[in-house]
Order: sequence, then C-alpha cells, then structure tokens
Amino acid sequence: MSERIIETDVLVVGGGGAGFRTAIAARETGVRVMLVSKGPLARCGATPMAGADFTLDGLSLSRMGFPGEPKDTKGKFFNDIVTQGFYLNNQKLVEQYIGSAPARLKELLEWGMKVDSSEERAIFTSGLGLVDTVCRRAKTCGVDFLEDVMVLDLVIQGGRVVGALGLDIPTGEFIRFRSRAVIIATGGWHKAFWPNTGMRDLSGEGIAMAHRAGAEIGNMEFITFCCNILLWPPIWRGSLATYILSLRIDAELTNSAGEVFLKKYDPFVVKWGTYMEWNKGFVSFASTREIRDGKGSPHGGVYFGLGSTPYETFEKIALGRFPGWKYKALDLSEMPKIFKEGKAVEVGPVVEYFDGGIVVNEKFETAVEGLYAAGECTLGPFGANRVERTRKRPPCPSFPCRSSVICREKPKKPWDERMARNRRKSGGRSRRWPIRI
Ligand SMILES: Cc1cc2nc3c(=O)[nH]c(=O)nc-3n(C[C@H](O)[C@H](O)[C@H](O)COP(=O)(O)OP(=O)(O)OC[C@H]3O[C@@H](n4cnc5c(N)ncnc54)[C@H](O)[C@@H]3O)c2cc1C
Repeated sequence: MSERIIETDVLVVGGGGAGFRTAIAARETGVRVMLVSKGPLARCGATPMAGADFTLDGLSLSRMGFPGEPKDTKGKFFNDIVTQGFYLNNQKLVEQYIGSAPARLKELLEWGMKVDSSEERAIFTSGLGLVDTVCRRAKTCGVDFLEDVMVLDLVIQGGRVVGALGLDIPTGEFIRFRSRAVIIATGGWHKAFWPNTGMRDLSGEGIAMAHRAGAEIGNMEFITFCCNILLWPPIWRGSLATYILSLRIDAELTNSAGEVFLKKYDPFVVKWGTYMEWNKGFVSFASTREIRDGKGSPHGGVYFGLGSTPYETFEKIALGRFPGWKYKALDLSEMPKIFKEGKAVEVGPVVEYFDGGIVVNEKFETAVEGLYAAGECTLGPFGANRVERTRKRPPCPSFPCRSSVICREKPKKPWDERMARNRRKSGGRSRRWPIRI
C-alpha cells in the first residue's frame, strides 16, 4: 500500500467556515498552512447548508451602518447568550465572540461577502456566500489545499501532536502529515442520526481523534433538533424548506388522526414555542410525542399543511424564498401541487447542529500540546442552546454563525496544564463548564 509524506507548519482538518477562517488566521502569521477536507472544497460540511445569519450586538451593527438596534449593547447580548445557553456556556468564549464579532463581520464584508438583509441583531447572508468568501480569501493568502482526504487519526510524539494520518479517498493512498500544530475543524456528527439535515461527511471523527489524543470533550448532550423538516419523498428528506416556510406562513401541523395537536398545549407556550429558534425545541417535542403515541405519519413524522393560509399567499411567500421552486439545488416543484390539492407533506424533528464538542480556551487550544480546535466540533460559546437572533423574545434560545468562530492566534504553546490535570483527576470523564454569573 502506497504512502505519501506531506510537511507543513499548521495542518487544518476541515473545509467548512471554521477551517477556512482558522487557516487564514494561521497563514497571516507567515507560517505554511495546509487545509485538508474530506469532501469537495467549500461544498461539503454544514456551512454551505446554513441560512445563514451572523449575530452581533445591535449597537455595533448600527455603527456599521446596518439598521441594528442601538439600545442592544454588548452587555445585553452577553446576558442573552448566557441565559439562553442555560448558564452552561464558557463565558470567556462568549466575551471573545461578542468582542470580536464586529471586526470579523467587517473583514468578511471587505473580502466580498454579500449581505441579503439585516435586522436588529443580525445580518443575513447565505452559507454558500460565506464559505465562498473565506475559501477565496484562503486561496489568495496562500493556504495549500487537499480535498477528498479523510484524516483518520492524530500522530502523537512525546505527549504532543506532531501530525496526522490521512487517507486519499479516491486513490486509497495513505498520507502522513507532519506538522507543528493541528487544528481540528471537522464540524458536527450528523451522520450518527438518521435522518439529519447535514452532509454525509459529518461523522464526528475529529472529536473522536481529539478525545483519543487526550483532549477533553463536553456538553455532548446538547444537540439541536430542527422541527418541520421534510421527510418524504426521499429526495426531499432532511431539507429545511418547510421549516423556513413555517416561520413565514401560518402552517398547520396535524397527526394521523387529523388533530391539530399544538392545540393541546397552553396558548402562551404555543405562541412563544412556535417563534423562530424557540420552535426547534417545542415543536420537535410536541411532534415526537404524537409519533411516540402512534399518531405519526407513515414515514415517521407528522403532517404539515397550509391550514387557514390561502394557497395564493403560500405561493407568493414560497416563491419569494425559493425562486423557481428551488432551494439549495433541491427541486421543490411538486410541493405547490400537493398544497393546491389541499394535501399535506410529511415533516418531523431532525438533528441540525451540536453545541458540545472539544473543550478549548480563548486561543482555541485544547489540553493537548500542539492540538487546537475551532467551529462546531468544539464546546463553543453557546452552552446548552444557541442564542435567539432577535431581541423580541419570550421570558429562553440561537444562531450566531459558528462558522464565524475564528482563530486569530498563531498556534504556539499549550494553554495551561489545568485542563489536563482536571481530566486526569476525573478519570477522563468529561465535565461541564463552571458557572460564572
Ligand atoms: C441545514 C443547516 C442549516 C443551518 N443554518 C444555520 C444558520 O442559518 N445560521 C447559523 O449560524 N448556523 C446554521 N447552521 C449551523 C452552521 O452551519 C454550522 O454550525 C457551521 O457551518 C459549522 O461550521 P464548521 O466549519 O465548524 O463545520 P462544517 O462546515 O460542517 O465543516 C466541517 C468540515 O470538516 C470536514 N471533515 C469532517 N471530518 C473530516 C475528516 N476526518 N478529515 C477531513 N475533513 C473532515 C468536512 O468535510 C467539512 O469540510 C446550520 C446547519 C445546518 C446543517
């Protein structure tokens, strides 16, 4: 079996938003950087699938010339992230996120990212637009790339990470990477769930290899399921199209007995529980309950119909969002036919993103020397739940673009021995972050 050896200073594993941004940051310090991606560059992982919104405090947004809410200070934003994350956030990462978000947005705009719209605490772009921007920038600043290469494990020598072993998927050739530092940016582990909304390349081996190397992982139980995800026909399975519609039209969810099952809940809970990010938890819970009670649809979901929304209203709103009945290259042209006949589509709760992962500090260092991590594979700033992108909200959750998680620091020495010591003391069990209120 053939083997290749590649030497670089920094090896970045993952070609999503976080991988590209960390590669740029490392390259800007003048070192050699190689980015390895399991899938095709900028067309794999979760980043191209995202909506995507970039959340920052309204005051900074308004100072940048967007219609942000000037009364929304960094302090208020901090408070919302921490309370909506149920105090399980790493608050130092929250501070860093809030402090650096305006500068990160400014540079994305300078690099050519287009903004579709904005609101009091967020700008909206597209996942594809965002990943294309950072990919272009990484190419311009001299990052080296390898796509269709899966990193299998880290190489450790004398207690520090000194490279990784990869597999060239098309040829079957092994690649030995020698590097001074490795940055893991492998995203979530969607593939452990079926169905899911992510791409097939997201199977969590970055977190697993970091764990094997001795890094701490945490908050792994905080997984967000998105409600109203298309389940049938198979070609639509996992698409967010109906979730997006549910935020814009008064859709009706029914079970197999034809009951509008959300009517079983208190109207206050339904009002806020069907509101933007909040609906992910509540509607997923309510739908799962019907399915478990034997009142689900044939393909394991519930029914999504237009309810009292006139077909013409649906068509106008849907076509505004899905021009030509296309969403992320998916052909939705059969959907209007279904709704026109007064029928419903099958939808259900499906895994969307992960809030736990590899424990890092503000410099994205792990407890293992030479090993760094960024993006969705980390225990990021959001604790148990991502923050809601609007301030109009009930007395709780989230979406700042995790792709915006960045690594400005030149990889250098390990951050401190504390985490490694803690891990040894706890016998390798992961723990949650201490609460700092
Ligand atoms: C359908 C959907 C919609 C979303 N919408 C939004 C939104 O509107 N706003 C928002 O903020 N967030 C949204 N999210 C979440 C957001 O997209 C992700 O949190 C973010 O894009 C993760 O970026 P990342 O760079 O960390 O990982 P990813 O973009 O997932 O990239 C991971 C990369 O690692 C590579 N990889 C994995 N394993 C290996 C390996 N062993 N070897 C080599 N490479 C490997 C993959 O090929 C991929 O290139 C959404 C997620 C989904 C699934």
